[in-house]
Amino acid sequence: MFNNILKSVLATLLLLSVAASANSVDYNVLIKQAHQQYKTANEGKVADYIPALAAYSPDNFAIAIVTADGKVYATGDSDKTFPLESISKVFTLALVMEQHGSDEVLAKLGANATGLPFNSALAVELNPGEPQNPLVNAGAISTVSLVKAENKTERWHRILNNLSAYADDNLTVNEPVFASEMATNQHNQALAQLMLSYDVFYGDPREAVEIYTRECSVDVNVIQLAKMGAVLANQGRSPFNGKQLLNAKYVPQVLAEMAIAGLYDGSGKWLYTAGIPAKSGVSGGMVAVVPGKFAIAVYSPPLDRAGNSVRGQKVIRHIADATRASLFTHTQ
Ligand code: GLU
Repeated sequence: MFNNILKSVLATLLLLSVAASANSVDYNVLIKQAHQQYKTANEGKVADYIPALAAYSPDNFAIAIVTADGKVYATGDSDKTFPLESISKVFTLALVMEQHGSDEVLAKLGANATGLPFNSALAVELNPGEPQNPLVNAGAISTVSLVKAENKTERWHRILNNLSAYADDNLTVNEPVFASEMATNQHNQALAQLMLSYDVFYGDPREAVEIYTRECSVDVNVIQLAKMGAVLANQGRSPFNGKQLLNAKYVPQVLAEMAIAGLYDGSGKWLYTAGIPAKSGVSGGMVAVVPGKFAIAVYSPPLDRAGNSVRGQKVIRHIADATRASLFTHTQ
């Protein structure tokens, strides 16, 4: 009698576990399927306002998912490197958040969508003296100026070491991209001076623009990028090196800034259609974070008008739909 009850309990448990695994999504299958589905999507244009970026092939295409507990799934050109560009802003924001706290970040860097392009000077002029957010160029250069350090070299090393710790690798600067961007960054220099004139800048504008340009030129591949996102998915702790890189209490604020402005003037539409915080860069990288679950990174250089990877958005939306990852979806 007792044996029969035990047997039927075990059989039920077995059935339940089979049903659960059938329902759970196989990330390997999912990313391969998304790669196949979107590799022929050929809208968008590779950025050329930074001359060195124009040399990257529009066909480069890679996808990675890294889970909050450190499992890695990748497909496509996952060994090809590309400069982080604006994605670096998220992690320097995290460093500044850790050093100054979230109240100071809100007061000094802001959390308002500008609704204007990524490097808009008009956005600064419209609200003089009001910080915008740390993910548009003006705010990101101010963010660099807030990094605590004795001097320029130390400030840069803190930023680079921080990026490397998130990626769990020794990241390096792509020198040709850096040189190309330094030769053409007059607009960013103007933004820094404008911010200074309105008292929403906290250091030397020339130095900050140079360090900002350096952080944008740091190379990653799609797996390193997904690992960086996975730290944020894992409450600020790297699942790889175990370091608590960002106090867990600040993770929601970093993700909120990504939701507000991670895709610049495309951010509202992005949140409406994908429902997860993400950040793009003009080199075609994009990373999205699903708290407690995983990060998705995509590399595909052709961009839409707002400067966001076209395939990156399609792939991440596809994965968010398939995994019901939207933060606004009711899950039981
Ligand atoms: N370094 C680029 C710039 O300042 C970053 C822009 C981006 O990735 O959106 O123009």
